[in-house]
Amino acid sequence: MRIVLMGPPGAGKGTQAARLVETFGLKHLSSGDIFRAEKASGSQLGKKLAEIMAAGALVPDEIVVEMMAKAIAAVGDDGLMLDGFPRTVAQAEALDATLKQNGTPLNAVVVITADDGEIVERITGRRACGSCGKGFHVKFMPSARGDICDACDGALTQRDDDREEVVRERLAAYKKQTEPVIAYYRTSGAKVIEVNGSQSPDAVTADMAAALRSLE
Ligand code: ADP
Ligand code: ADP
Ligand code: ZN
Repeated sequence: MRIVLMGPPGAGKGTQAARLVETFGLKHLSSGDIFRAEKASGSQLGKKLAEIMAAGALVPDEIVVEMMAKAIAAVGDDGLMLDGFPRTVAQAEALDATLKQNGTPLNAVVVITADDGEIVERITGRRACGSCGKGFHVKFMPSARGDICDACDGALTQRDDDREEVVRERLAAYKKQTEPVIAYYRTSGAKVIEVNGSQSPDAVTADMAAALRSLE
């Protein structure tokens, strides 16, 4: 099964992907995580990505398409949950071409919805473990141990682009460049499934699991 997971920043894509991929035998490929790893490597490309991400703008399509094509090729024939890619119509077209070439078309596009007020509160309270990557929220999904990860003892950190000013930019980029991707998939005949992200994390997981089961 190959799924594209969409939704505004903070909708809960990463949280839900982490909860569901194992059950459905999917590999989770997050473009943001891939770019942050490149940034952490200190490479020339990583430095360029860091500047763009800090401003809340989108990384140019050529770079995104090349890096994601490599990551998808590395997954091979396994099931796939793409999180954060594609984010422009040009990226969606490139993904269609890649998947067509591999003979592995998309099964569905799952869109997690959330409204602007929720998004800002979710993103500014987002924390992640610097050691194991587990995600938290200071109010909605706190660690049982405060600033320390309750899974591995690692320290919780905040992404430097999770500040309110940058969130506004990211939200604007989503509306302008990414919402048209949903329309693109609808007109191209892909199965688009909307999930209400303004519920408790468990309720969202239940709705998503039901949607994925209907595709098996
Ligand atoms: P995305 O990957 O879409 O940017 P995340 O999964 O990282 O979003 O979630 C953003 C923040 O909101 C995280 O801190 C997460 O713990 C929290 N969160 C995720 N889903 C919910 C939810 N349904 N209700 C409240 N908070 C949530
Ligand atoms: P979120 O889901 O919270 O918006 P991500 O971790 O998916 O955050 O993305 C972080 C940043 O990485 C984005 O603001 C953007 O700069 C860059 N990025 C991630 N995916 C893409 C993409 N498909 N196209 C362009 N830029 C991207
Ligand atoms: Zn941890």
